[in-house]
Amino acid sequence: MTRHHPDSVSLMEYAAGNLSEPHALCIKLHLDKCPLCRSRVDTLNSLGAVMMEQQPKVSMSNDMFDSILSKIDDETAITDEPEIAPAPRVNPLQKLLGENLASLPWKRQLGDVSVLDITDRFPGQKEQVVLQKLAAGGKAPAHTHRGEETTIVLQGAFADQKGVFNQWDFVVLTDKDEHKPVAVGCEDCITLSVLSAPVKLTGTFTRMLNPFIR
Ligand SMILES: [Zn+2]
Repeated sequence: MTRHHPDSVSLMEYAAGNLSEPHALCIKLHLDKCPLCRSRVDTLNSLGAVMMEQQPKVSMSNDMFDSILSKIDDETAITDEPEIAPAPRVNPLQKLLGENLASLPWKRQLGDVSVLDITDRFPGQKEQVVLQKLAAGGKAPAHTHRGEETTIVLQGAFADQKGVFNQWDFVVLTDKDEHKPVAVGCEDCITLSVLSAPVKLTGTFTRMLNPFIR
């Protein structure tokens, strides 16, 4: 069950076609599985249409706009999970990778962590795009993020001090967030992350790992 959703600004940028290809993929993967966010996108689109229609007669102040966005976000927080909608036609990730996640050429990084850099599947994009796999029950070393990292859980679940993130949950981490994720459940946890800058390790393995983290 999806409990962690993209914020309204990201959804609006997605709907407007302003996101980079890897960011849009993260949102699309989430939307395919989250009827709640699909309805938020509809609401935002209607709002956008109204604003376009009324321009330049009425201009909405930034405060008013922010309050509408936060209202939409609040509704996300309190609404019960709606019924699961029919599954999407083609999984965009499978279309991109063309194979089973388990059979990808994973690179073992340290202990329980494996990574696969798929940046080259997005030619012309500035961000680094990586798949990360944390073995079932495994722990990742403590780290912060130098820039912004947008992550969606593709399989399994992980937990950190902010909570448990299940399949199709969406999380954005910044340089303010130091965390030490642990894979929970009996499956390997596989995530897709779009990084605007490389992660910075803060724990004892820093020196050992840094050559592998660009
Ligand atoms: Zn959602």
